[in-house]
Amino acid sequence: MTVSITRKDIKNELVDKIELLSGQNVFECYQCGNCSSGCPMVDYMDYTPNQVMRLAQTGAIEELLAAGTMWVCAACLQCSSRCPKGIDVAGVMEALRTINLRNRVGVITPDDISTEDRRELPPIVLVSAFRKLSG
Ligand code: SF4
Ligand code: SF4
Repeated sequence: MTVSITRKDIKNELVDKIELLSGQNVFECYQCGNCSSGCPMVDYMDYTPNQVMRLAQTGAIEELLAAGTMWVCAACLQCSSRCPKGIDVAGVMEALRTINLRNRVGVITPDDISTEDRRELPPIVLVSAFRKLSG
């Protein structure tokens, strides 16, 4: 059984920031798991989308920010469309990425891309990857 945690139980600036950036109330999540069951990237995540929501509810944001889940998220919106509570889970992922990127934390830099890949990949792929993944 999932224990319900409400906003008044948790005072955490990072939870506030996630809610401000995403416009979502993470405490609305009741852990049904629909978001995770439809996520095409879930097998590659260290925390599933519903686990992300639960960690956010408990204020374990530092743990979330150090995880790989937000970087693996493909921003496909499947989770958001499946949530019976209308929570934009993809927006929460985006908020986590944004907090990291604003702290200049990312997972790729231009130097990580080989010369061969730089020549072959369409510029839009590189620009999109740097915008999403590079701090
Ligand atoms: S937006 Fe991200 S978390 Fe949501 S279903 Fe797509 S890949 Fe999974
Ligand atoms: S689908 Fe919505 S309510 Fe269900 S676990 Fe995911 S975020 Fe929470």
